[in-house]
Amino acid sequence: MTLSGNGSQIEVRGARTHNLRSVDVDIPRDRLVVITGLSGSGKSSLAFATLFAEGQRRYLETLSAQARQFVRQLPHPDVDSVRGLPPTIAVDQRTGSARIRSTLATTTEIYDYLRLLFARAGQAHCPDCGLPVSQQSVEAIVDRILALGERRKVMILAPLITGRKGAHREVFEKICKAGLVRARVDGAVVDAADAPNLPRGQEHTIEVIVDRIIVKPGIEDRLKESVELALKHGDGSCLISQLDGENWHDRLYSSRYCCPECATSFPPLEPRTFSFNSPYGACPACRGLGVVPVNDERSSSRAKSARENLFRQPACPSCEGARLGPIARAVTFAGSNLPSLTAMSVDEASAFFTTLSEQEGSRVRECEAPAEPPRSGAFAARQEPRPPFNEPTAPGAGLANLEPEARQAALSILPDIASRLHYLQRVGVGYLTLDRPAPTLSGGEFQRARLASCLGSGLIGVCYLLDEPTIGLHPRDTARMLDVLTDLRDSGNSVLVVEHDEELIRQSDWLIDLGPGAGREGGHLVASGAVKNLSETSSPESRTVRWLTSSFSPALRAPSPPEAGAETETRWLRISGASLHNLKEVAVEIPLGTLTAVTGVSGSGKTSLVTGTLVPALKHLLPVNSARKDEAEADWNTLGVSLGSLTGSGHLDRIVVVNQSPIGRSGRSNPATHSGVWDEVRRLFAKTRDAKLRGFKASRFSFNARDGRCPTCEGRGEQRIELNYLPDAYVECPDCRGDRFNTQTLGIRFKEKNLADVLALRIDEAAELFENVPKIRRVLDTLREVGLGYLLLGQSSLTLSGGEAQRVKLATELCKQGEDRVLFVLDEPTTGLHPLDVQRLLLLLRKLVEQGHSVLVVEHNLDVIRASDWMIDLGPDGGVDGGQLVAAGPPGELASSPGSSLTAQALAASCAKTRL
Ligand code: ADP
Ligand code: ADP
Ligand code: ZN
Ligand code: ZN
Repeated sequence: MTLSGNGSQIEVRGARTHNLRSVDVDIPRDRLVVITGLSGSGKSSLAFATLFAEGQRRYLETLSAQARQFVRQLPHPDVDSVRGLPPTIAVDQRTGSARIRSTLATTTEIYDYLRLLFARAGQAHCPDCGLPVSQQSVEAIVDRILALGERRKVMILAPLITGRKGAHREVFEKICKAGLVRARVDGAVVDAADAPNLPRGQEHTIEVIVDRIIVKPGIEDRLKESVELALKHGDGSCLISQLDGENWHDRLYSSRYCCPECATSFPPLEPRTFSFNSPYGACPACRGLGVVPVNDERSSSRAKSARENLFRQPACPSCEGARLGPIARAVTFAGSNLPSLTAMSVDEASAFFTTLSEQEGSRVRECEAPAEPPRSGAFAARQEPRPPFNEPTAPGAGLANLEPEARQAALSILPDIASRLHYLQRVGVGYLTLDRPAPTLSGGEFQRARLASCLGSGLIGVCYLLDEPTIGLHPRDTARMLDVLTDLRDSGNSVLVVEHDEELIRQSDWLIDLGPGAGREGGHLVASGAVKNLSETSSPESRTVRWLTSSFSPALRAPSPPEAGAETETRWLRISGASLHNLKEVAVEIPLGTLTAVTGVSGSGKTSLVTGTLVPALKHLLPVNSARKDEAEADWNTLGVSLGSLTGSGHLDRIVVVNQSPIGRSGRSNPATHSGVWDEVRRLFAKTRDAKLRGFKASRFSFNARDGRCPTCEGRGEQRIELNYLPDAYVECPDCRGDRFNTQTLGIRFKEKNLADVLALRIDEAAELFENVPKIRRVLDTLREVGLGYLLLGQSSLTLSGGEAQRVKLATELCKQGEDRVLFVLDEPTTGLHPLDVQRLLLLLRKLVEQGHSVLVVEHNLDVIRASDWMIDLGPDGGVDGGQLVAAGPPGELASSPGSSLTAQALAASCAKTRL
């Protein structure tokens, strides 16, 4: 592989985004490249804040002048030059994050194809009585008239009044105004200008005669015009009346759908008929949400609570959660309506469409095969002569009884649906249902769904940027993910992944390692090359290369497992009858005062058990500001927790959920505010002589206090620019230049530093400044201990990586001294963490256990599982095939006799490998 040639590599020069130290790096194109480094070393800064941002900027430059105006406001990535950059597409866990109304099917475009399929090849039914209803095109109506035979006398009429009381004078006036002459009134042809006086009290029927014609060759164009005109006047209906001997015979045609039984008529089916985001398709009762609307979802201040409530609200009584209006719900394809199709899991839907295609295949074969000779014998005589493809429409009835046009449409759309479903299966989310609301997907599931869309798009020559695609994947599924990534590469794309998974790192073509440390100690390129060529000699500073080449094994001693049955020693939390989502009446025991890992393949039910059941149950029993509740009296059913019983909560005082979400939702929070350091700093500032002189209280030194903060940005230090289709961008506040406080407030100083100066300090530096303030010093020291000394005290929480935010939270908890016995719950805490970060996290978790707390982690990282005291494995597989307890016990014991536990098997395999 030569990399020097033109266009064969992306050349980055002088990248200084965030902590990057003027990085020069050449990245081979059309390869699978992995970017590694400790959490906070600068991986995202290179991949997303530099390469993707630059790619996006260049793309926007090609758009309209109006769009370019926005681009000028976008911060330039701080880089001297980037050459050879293909168009970039970021597939991470956050950007383009789920809109409240989107579902798995809409985010993967499968829904767009389904809408097209149902519009073109669906069978409509009357929403009132359920009868099949069809419509005709103008051409089809013309064909019917021509088929009446030459020399046939025909009238083309438009029905105006059908059996209604009244004199209807205005109807005749309208006919005259439209330039038409004759009408048929109660069966008799009259001159519209000379219309009879109709008795008011009687019912009448009035049709206008649009044309009278004799069928013969060459009249097609005139017929077409007349039929169109009749449909226009008849509001989608027209009458064709033919002379048969002495009598006229009428036939009603409709370009709209019209039920022959109850005369309900509705407009032609279009893709938008099936869109729950369009007023044409959405259920009018719930406006397409599928649930009883809680409050106005347009009000942004309430959007958050709307999102939280959305999934606990009762289903809309009108559509029963189907989101679509009655007309759309009454359309079927191959016997299923759209909501019942999207209620299937990806696996089920894939099987459904595969069966259809196979039937279609065999149908074609049967048609081509010579007719079988009639069978002789008793059976043959009694057999009904049954045409092979005329079965009633039922699931799997196939495409055979579709009109040729509809069948053709279906045949052209089905492959697009099938391939997208297939890609979803390949990325390991076959267990998800198509109608799953996107906001309820985990970050990893969401990213994998988007990855499947990328595969489906078939783009080439693109640079894909992925953020840890193995998140949430069981070791069993990592190999499949690798296949998907190499496919993307082999079809002619550059694939750049930020990853920590050892297998994926080893299998990639090229490795770029940033470091050597994190934050200020990171930001350098410490290794770059084909993975197999890298060595400690060539890259002495790279901790990743050292870890890859040495026989690194977890430094932690094997923990001592709690002894089952030793009631006096170990206290247990026991739950039974857990049945949320796919959980099948699960009963588990969690040893308290330990580090316990809940494991299992993706979709096995880990999150449903821990985040969906245990956490809400304990939050109910151990409320933050009021007395604990009696677990024996809790009525879980009424409380909306799918649980039989929970015991042992008496051993706990508090439950703390530590996730990787930003600390605080506004851009105003930062490590200082979250850890409580800021409260102490404010008190300190209020005690200075100047503050006392001016009467400034501690409250003034808060970003939330009107009198103290910068009024322009309201203490944020930056202003938000909203961009269509793109994530919001932020620019420095023009007024305070990012200082966040007004000038009077900034006049107060401690050791010559004002508040803005303090916020700009690294935690390491702040520890020096406040060395004589024990309350502040203690917290800062803990933050340094967990490796965060490089963070700025006032760094906006929105810029912290997930791993950094998680450690800020854990460190804050560690500093809280007290007698409380806490259960810490962490969902995939190793997300975004380098194996060396994982060791640091484990030390922290162990410390919490040593202090007498309990730690429960949902994990698939084998290092964490191995270092746990206890493991609870769910499975055996994902979705409907999961939701059961497979194994429980100390990981070491389970690994030595894995049985059917996929996690124990993976653990055993990796233990064997590390021993080699
Ligand atoms: P990684 O992806 O390797 O975990 P990042 O690239 O996210 O690391 O972060 C590298 C460093 O830059 C970290 O110290 C982080 O706190 C800092 N950082 C990230 N985003 C911003 C930002 N928007 N402004 C300032 N610093 C940032
Ligand atoms: P894990 O955490 O082990 O990956 P989950 O608990 O997230 O598994 O999922 C278990 C099953 O429950 C899956 O079939 C998943 O699709 C389903 N599920 C999870 N969350 C929801 C939800 N909010 N709505 C509907 N189904 C869900
Ligand atoms: Zn509804
Ligand atoms: Zn400001």
